[in-house]
Amino acid sequence: MIFRQLFDPQSSTYSYLLADTEEGEAVFIDPVFEEAPRDAALIRELGLKLLCTLETHVHADHVTGAWNLKQRLGSQIGVSAESGAEGADRYLKDGETVRFGKRHLQVRATPGHTRGCVTYVLDSQAMAFTGDCLLIRGCGRTDFQQGDARAMYRSVHERIFSLPDSCLLYPGHDYRGLTVSSVGEERRFNPRLGGELSESDFVGYMENLGLPHPKQMDIAVPANLKCGRREGMAEPADHPDWGPINLTFAGIWEVQPHWVQEHLRELRVIDVREPDEYDGPLGHIPGAELIPLGALSARAGEIPRDRPVIAVCRAGGRSAQATVILRKAGMERVANLAGGMLRWRAQHLVVEGARD
Ligand code: FE
Repeated sequence: MIFRQLFDPQSSTYSYLLADTEEGEAVFIDPVFEEAPRDAALIRELGLKLLCTLETHVHADHVTGAWNLKQRLGSQIGVSAESGAEGADRYLKDGETVRFGKRHLQVRATPGHTRGCVTYVLDSQAMAFTGDCLLIRGCGRTDFQQGDARAMYRSVHERIFSLPDSCLLYPGHDYRGLTVSSVGEERRFNPRLGGELSESDFVGYMENLGLPHPKQMDIAVPANLKCGRREGMAEPADHPDWGPINLTFAGIWEVQPHWVQEHLRELRVIDVREPDEYDGPLGHIPGAELIPLGALSARAGEIPRDRPVIAVCRAGGRSAQATVILRKAGMERVANLAGGMLRWRAQHLVVEGARD
């Protein structure tokens, strides 16, 4: 199985990718709207088919990436039937399973933080994704969104602490950078819900937290009740309109060689290799201008902004850095030639000055 824990620093939210390695099918728990380009890049690079995004609840502190990923990858949207959200493809009930390849997650209703909160438990019970119900040495708040401290106590004790002690627990957030806990650990050491603490101890604790409301709440809750579909937005807003440019998981905008050859006249190709490579055995792309990487920062101002810029080097590494430098210099339409001159030559595309 493939498993990845991803973090959104803005809201301290964890998202989780799970995939069956053999069948290549994946699910994604609690995506964040702003991280959808990153998450889509990872799913693409790992060669996975995203079947479904899954929400643990209607979040108050960030907008879900469910709708955004559906536009990019064609995934279905899964939410709890109790969540009150509109626009989902699947409304999940307690006990239902969500399949990906030969694996599955089981849905367990764990209300308390919100009425519609669920925990997703992996088929083997080796992992559970608790959302904002049980956090590492903490728990979600219960003072709004139909929160209920008594319901949360029962959810945690009856639906989560009943899993094997070895079951790893992955929360929806952590504000200290902690990444994982286990049932046995939280049963003993959770300061609100563990040890000998009773339901009334817990209720007393929760009634006196005195937390301010989340900053994003007025934006996040209405958007999440529509599965992250934002008013007036037909497509994810960050997609470049000048070509089939893909963002990699490494954060580089990248373009494929064939498209560059077909559109050479509408583009400006900057070759960032050294002069002896430019005139070396691999040759160079016709019309490519030579500006070695070491000189690029100083000379970025010389490059006219009339056409999009494609950065090129031998294998695509130095030119990736070139796109970072050019973006810093204020150039927006810039992309890296994927695979550099090596892939360009391997695909038998047109070159100048090559020595065979
Ligand atoms: Fe929450």
